[in-house]
Amino acid sequence: MLTNAYLKGLYADLEAKDPYQFEFLQTVKEVFESLQPVFDQEPELAKTGLMERFVEPERVILFRVPWVDDQGNVRVNRGYRVQHNSSIGIYKGGLRFHPSVNLSIMKFLAFEQCFKNSLTGLPIGGGKGGADFDPKGKSENEIMVFCQSFMTELYRHIGQFTDGPAGDIGVGGREIGYMFGQYKRLTGYYDGTLTGKGLSFGGSLARTEATGYGVCYYAQEMLRHKGDTMDNKKVAISGSGNVAIFAAEKATQLGAKVITMSDSNGYIYDESGIDLDVMKDIKLVKRGRISEYADQVAGAVYHEGKRPWGEVCDLAIPCATQNELDIEDAKTLVENGCRIVVEGSNMPTTLDATEFFLANGVFFSVGKASNAGGVATSAMEMSQNSIRMPWSFEEVDQRLQGIMQNIFRNVIETAERYGAPENLVLGSNIAGFIKIKDAMLAQGVC
Ligand code: NDP
Repeated sequence: MLTNAYLKGLYADLEAKDPYQFEFLQTVKEVFESLQPVFDQEPELAKTGLMERFVEPERVILFRVPWVDDQGNVRVNRGYRVQHNSSIGIYKGGLRFHPSVNLSIMKFLAFEQCFKNSLTGLPIGGGKGGADFDPKGKSENEIMVFCQSFMTELYRHIGQFTDGPAGDIGVGGREIGYMFGQYKRLTGYYDGTLTGKGLSFGGSLARTEATGYGVCYYAQEMLRHKGDTMDNKKVAISGSGNVAIFAAEKATQLGAKVITMSDSNGYIYDESGIDLDVMKDIKLVKRGRISEYADQVAGAVYHEGKRPWGEVCDLAIPCATQNELDIEDAKTLVENGCRIVVEGSNMPTTLDATEFFLANGVFFSVGKASNAGGVATSAMEMSQNSIRMPWSFEEVDQRLQGIMQNIFRNVIETAERYGAPENLVLGSNIAGFIKIKDAMLAQGVC
């Protein structure tokens, strides 16, 4: 609950100004609740106007994306880039192509990205972008034409010293490739502005795997803190995209059994553990639906229109989208004995579900900490592009593990220091905030 008068007042102002930006208000509320001990201890911060500045993006770019479909019809989508905060480094954050994309979702993702990027310990500020374009059902040519049109506007706002976009929902290696081609054509630069590139043109080994692997390295640290390991744990994962697939792969490598995965149509349950070769073939090669898994694997069951949180598991790792785990799901998970929840997607847990987990002794990590491995490895891709030298898979993976371990240490120690031991929500938000706060104060009112 918000009790600090300054933060409460500021939140009320934001609510009055943008009452329909639900996702943005949700993330601000979660963060403000966590930051209260900082503002209680340092009331003079209120006089600096720091938070008034921090909740406003430095810049929002909104643009038209016109393109022609295979039937010759002119189509128009809305493109966005929210350059939220550059106090600790260039804006960095993914691009999302999904029909649900709107300003509220872009602003929430850009705001979260600031904390996440700060937690990595690397010099990267926060941004996010995308379009309300639905890649599903589009031809290869339509995807390419759309990406080219999107970049034809975006290129003038990005660059290796200003803003570095990457992938997110609906934007993978294929889309980054088309956008990089157009960026290069328009600017003449062959540089590290875009990350998540193919390996033959500047991409980093282990970038594809990084977010999902990083989530599991973080989960491993959480378990280690409790004197436990991944071995033989039953894991429920949602989603079947980039983050979910590589989280499932690493969890399996670490000895766990992944029993569920999902897409927006439903989920599959496989008691003997997800067969990742089959899953990758359906999702990464054929771009099919998750229901096909049950047709191919004996014993697997498909549940249409449902989410996986009703299955008995030790760990839950949501890896699909925002607000995909609500209070009823949280109650069911706890009833079924789940004691660890590690967010792979951004803000998958609703605020009341988060509070329920914390109140019921669930060791719960917010995505801005546990999924930070993706952006950290994107920053490593930029480093390799700058020095014109690729690192081996093992080198990148080792750095990734080190970064995830450092984030966990920082988060757990911060939670302890601010009187909320094991509260990883509070620890993540405060630890991410402190670096940004110090940088913003040092740089004056700007
Ligand atoms: P993908 O597009 O590769 O996969 C998204 C998955 O989530 C798909 O299985 C998709 O199913 C499912 N999904 C999307 N929207 C919904 C919905 N409304 N309801 C149910 N399922 C849905 O995206 P990523 O794996 O890259 O991203 C997943 C999450 O992780 C996002 O929250 C993203 O912001 C976050 N993230 C991603 C990073 C990255 O490096 N890619 C880095 C850090 C965070 P369907 O195919 O049916 O739409």
